[in-house]
Amino acid sequence: MIETVPGIILLHKFKKIGNRLFMSIVGIGAKLFSKNTWPTKFKRIATSILPVDKGRKGACKRCGACCKLPNPCPFLRIDKNGQCTCKIYWFRPPSCRKYPRTKSELLTPETCGYSFDRTKH
Ligand code: SF4
Ligand code: SF4
Repeated sequence: MIETVPGIILLHKFKKIGNRLFMSIVGIGAKLFSKNTWPTKFKRIATSILPVDKGRKGACKRCGACCKLPNPCPFLRIDKNGQCTCKIYWFRPPSCRKYPRTKSELLTPETCGYSFDRTKH
């Protein structure tokens, strides 16, 4: 029985390593398939010279979700009521002004005040 204890400890360690490896692979996979990445941010910046899709409707609710793609912007301010403000609002770049420019660029549908009407193009 005593001889099996190191074996159980070793097995436990392998299981822990296996779990961590699995979670890392899942994390990498999720990041690869997610649109919330720096390359997609650069793509939004590059395409921000194009007009906003005519089918866009709604208004910004100042949820701040788009200012956290893919990481929180240093100019984002959140007050005690959860209302978001841009510290450089009048100088913010076109990619911020036009977000979400198209339906495919809308990465924050859960909280964003904008949506897209499929019939208008
Ligand atoms: S510059 Fe302003 S609008 Fe653009 S991401 Fe930062 S906080 Fe948001
Ligand atoms: S995600 Fe939409 S509603 Fe929220 S701050 Fe950005 S544009 Fe405004």
